[in-house]
Amino acid sequence: MFYIGCHLSISNGYEAMGKAALKIGANSFQFFSRNPRGSKAKDIDPSDIDRLLKLMEENNFGKILAHAPYTLNPCSNKAHTRAFAKLVLQEDLERMEYLPNNYYNFHPGSHVGQGVEVGIQYIVDTLNEILKSEYRTIVLLETMAGKGTEIGSSFEELKRIIDGVELSDKIGVCLDTCHVYDAGYDIVNDLDGVLEEFDSIIGLDKLYAIHLNDSKNPFNSHKDRHEKIGYGSLGLETFEKIINHPKIRHLPFYLETPNDLEGYGREIELLKSMRK
Ligand code: FE
Ligand code: FE
Ligand code: ZN
Repeated sequence: MFYIGCHLSISNGYEAMGKAALKIGANSFQFFSRNPRGSKAKDIDPSDIDRLLKLMEENNFGKILAHAPYTLNPCSNKAHTRAFAKLVLQEDLERMEYLPNNYYNFHPGSHVGQGVEVGIQYIVDTLNEILKSEYRTIVLLETMAGKGTEIGSSFEELKRIIDGVELSDKIGVCLDTCHVYDAGYDIVNDLDGVLEEFDSIIGLDKLYAIHLNDSKNPFNSHKDRHEKIGYGSLGLETFEKIINHPKIRHLPFYLETPNDLEGYGREIELLKSMRK
């Protein structure tokens, strides 16, 4: 099964995202758990969620992926910023129990000059304080491009976070193709080598999802600007290799390219045509 979807807006509710996904030929999708700036989340409407779950079951959807607000920083140097990040993550994970057995992705954070060591410790502490054994969601650390003082642009850093988490079956990784290429992992010329490196450092059993984005910037630029599939420095051939690679082809793929719904529909059609 090819699980492919894109980032969708949650502004019209949960069932509306399922319908939008169907309309563009997707069988999965990603959404922000709340306004990306991190404001208060809307109250959950259980009947809306039930309608989405029914739609997903009837149409053989893959896992869906909630994305935390990207402004959260669990390893800030300010106590109130860390506390806010923890509160939002905690509340989001409680809400994810309405959508059991799916994924929740977040950016590990920026250490803002405190150093990688301190930053990783804050992230680990946050996760250990909020994760509960009864949760049915897998929390994913996103691979980052390494702009500024971002943590998580190397597999080693992600591994150190994972190793610090006590409930180890609740934590995994979401690999963003734009970010890893910007971070200096050459998935254009050596996808096999990068996946082998991931496997030897983190373990491919910890890889749960892929963000499919081309990059506006060259290799190792540490920038993080997404481009439409085939229009950036990764190029179409790279995506053909990624979606068909035997080690990752079973994973769900989520587009976060600069597109409206129709543009996403065209990219999904294109990717389906390249799937072997
Ligand atoms: Fe992200
Ligand atoms: Fe991403
Ligand atoms: Zn990005």
